[in-house]
Amino acid sequence: MDIRLTNTLTRAKERFAPADPDRVTMYVCGPTVYNYAHIGNARPPVVFDVLFRLLRAAYGDAHVLYARNFTDVDDRIIAVAAERGGSIAAVTAPFEQAYREDMAALGNLAPTFEPRATEHIPGMCDVVSALIGKGFAYQGDSGVWFSVPADKGYGKLSNRSVDDMLSGTRVDAEEDKAHPADFALWKAARPGEPSWPSPFGEGRPGWHIECSAMIKATLGDTIDIHGGGIDLVFPHHENEIAQSECANGKPLARFWLHNGFLDMEGEKMSKSLGNVVLARELLQDWPGEVLRWALLSAHYRAPLDWTRALLDQSKAALDRLYTALRRIDRETAGAAARPPAAVEDAPPEFVAALSDDLNTPQAMAVLFALATEANKSADRAELERLGDALRGAGLLMGVLQGDPEAWFRTGDDVDEIDALVAERVAARAARNWAEADRLRAALAARGVEVMDNPGGSTWKRIG
Ligand code: AMP
Ligand code: ZN
Repeated sequence: MDIRLTNTLTRAKERFAPADPDRVTMYVCGPTVYNYAHIGNARPPVVFDVLFRLLRAAYGDAHVLYARNFTDVDDRIIAVAAERGGSIAAVTAPFEQAYREDMAALGNLAPTFEPRATEHIPGMCDVVSALIGKGFAYQGDSGVWFSVPADKGYGKLSNRSVDDMLSGTRVDAEEDKAHPADFALWKAARPGEPSWPSPFGEGRPGWHIECSAMIKATLGDTIDIHGGGIDLVFPHHENEIAQSECANGKPLARFWLHNGFLDMEGEKMSKSLGNVVLARELLQDWPGEVLRWALLSAHYRAPLDWTRALLDQSKAALDRLYTALRRIDRETAGAAARPPAAVEDAPPEFVAALSDDLNTPQAMAVLFALATEANKSADRAELERLGDALRGAGLLMGVLQGDPEAWFRTGDDVDEIDALVAERVAARAARNWAEADRLRAALAARGVEVMDNPGGSTWKRIG
């Protein structure tokens, strides 16, 4: 399989070959767990899940190691914990769980490793100690700083000079850093904030050092692929490179991949603009597969405009493919006799599209062509072959694995389920636990699981 990927580091589309085909390594920066993931936050995990699936097909499932972290200590988490008067773990644990649920509902495989920053503090201290020892970092009263002028390679990923970076930035005279571009590796403890003991005194890690240490611990000094959203190129990934490469004396990642941003009706999706829509809100109204299809409908490097029309088109696209699969099942032995989907059955043009820098729109066009062929065919063997091809290709992209008959049942009963969930919320508010339990059981009997969160109740289909 000839996989080509656009490498931000070289600014070129390059042929991908791992350092060791028996141990292909990929790291993707994960969420800061202080709130629910919005649909923009879901774009990197969905895009890199497709790459994970493609690499597994190319090198074997057991030979691809994928790590995606949880940032579970950070200024925003500390602020939420302080507001609530509780610990940071009380903030992060439920959002971490919600993130796993949302990512699973979007059809993502679980990564091989999901390290938490707070479980890697000693490893972070080791990297910081190595940097101090080699003259790339120094300690001040407020913590330990990385010395940007000491790193001659600094700026190579984002392609900017230190002067470019500083133009327009306010230099804060209060901070005890030697150069305005220097960044924090370790922040000395402040009253009321969580802290850990370290060789540099009580404190907590800076954000960038977390990833450097978690990559080293889970995957090693040099990895094949590092991914994330385009906003992370500078400063986050530039700083990860600076820390890891100066500490280890080796390249951090051979390929750097970045996904474009998701816009909301033409505007950047961001909390300050108030146009954020949570993945879990959308999952109440749409099958996860429709959201996944929508996220993959543009090339991953291009911006994607999130609109109601995009969702309708994505639903219609999947309806068309499931219609073909339903007919195939009805005309052949169907689900009962069908072996599980196999990526080996994905047609070569589909694999070629994904291998060409994850060209998902092109891959989708191949699926439509297969469905059109199936709709015209009356030959049972031919239909079986097309069904296998559709399902094998779907497996590689994380779609089309459902039962087509069930696909067309989805959605008809959403209003009824919503009404039952609302009744249950009311029963709970009235402390009528017997009635709440009865409604939970009634929902379970229809294959619906209810999840109670601080902000209300949500539901999902099970089985
Ligand atoms: P944050 O919660 O801001 O730390 O973002 C977590 C991840 O989501 C990062 O990889 C970001 O690059 C990504 N991300 C945030 N907003 C968007 C967006 N609107 N479109 C695509 N990716 C995003
Ligand atoms: Zn990172």
